[in-house]
Amino acid sequence: MLALSKSPRAERLVTTSPLTADVVRRYVASDVGAVVGALTRQGLLVSVDHLGEEVTDEAQTGAAVDTYVSLLDLLPAGADVSVKLTALGLRLSQRLATANAAAICAAAEAKGVTVTLDAEEHDTIAGLHAVHAVLRREHPEVGVVVQAYLPDSLDRCEKIGAARVRLCKGAYTAPGGYRRTADIDRSFVRCLKVLMAGTGYPMVATHDPRLLRIASTLAVLDGRDTTGFEYQMLYGVRPEEQTRLAGLGSRVRVYVPYGADWYAYLMRRLAERPRNLAFFLRSLVSR
Ligand code: FAD
Repeated sequence: MLALSKSPRAERLVTTSPLTADVVRRYVASDVGAVVGALTRQGLLVSVDHLGEEVTDEAQTGAAVDTYVSLLDLLPAGADVSVKLTALGLRLSQRLATANAAAICAAAEAKGVTVTLDAEEHDTIAGLHAVHAVLRREHPEVGVVVQAYLPDSLDRCEKIGAARVRLCKGAYTAPGGYRRTADIDRSFVRCLKVLMAGTGYPMVATHDPRLLRIASTLAVLDGRDTTGFEYQMLYGVRPEEQTRLAGLGSRVRVYVPYGADWYAYLMRRLAERPRNLAFFLRSLVSR
């Protein structure tokens, strides 16, 4: 599925099929304003992602900035936007991606909205952290994602522990990256211990019940109250758990992707769960 997520031929086949609409709707907001409103009314926070990645045309990176700036008008204070640096030109130049991300950070700050830089393919991670370090000088609230499947994730957490850090398992593969679930989970817990014991703001991005329990235990042991960290989950994944945790007083943020460029995002979601893939294939053949 991850290989298919990069195949233009498969993308044409899937995106031109009217049969995928149900699956897309499950994971991608068709009306972002309405979805943000509904989640907010349920006591959930949001991080909104305008879908798009791997952009190699400078004009398109400017258009992505404009889209994010317009999106800010729809968001309540306390919301977050998730940004992929390859949509802002990281593949063209680090300087361009930094300037574009800085423009989004400045506009977001003015609206009381934070920005988090998503982590993408392994060959963009050094650039991601370099850009994050530069942005933090002017925008200390800008967050960054660490992927536990990368063996250097613990080092990353130790170095950037004072920042807003979203910890996730990782939706990609990399040479030398952990592949076995047990190894990724162990790495996740090692990172979580460092983040919870540190001085930053941990954002625990997982739906995994065991890791969620470990996170809540570590938070108590490290003396963090419910405002000292947050859980993050994806739109469409374990929604009852999202509202259950929020009902207990935890901060829960839902990652809400929207926009026409949903193909690669959807393929990564299907790759995470074979049952989703079966559901998807059934929806293709059953019409
Ligand atoms: P898993 O072991 O995959 O799942 C645990 C349980 O959650 C499953 O048993 C199932 O019940 C449920 N579940 C998980 N995925 C699905 C699904 N797709 N559909 C239905 N049920 C599911 N990855 C990156 O590489 N970079 C990022 O910047 C990034 N940002 C993220 C932001 C947020 C808020 C979240 C929640 C995830 C993000 N991810 C990112 C994705 C992450 O790395 C994982 O690929 C994804 O969260 C699945 O891992 P898991 O921890 O939920 O554990």
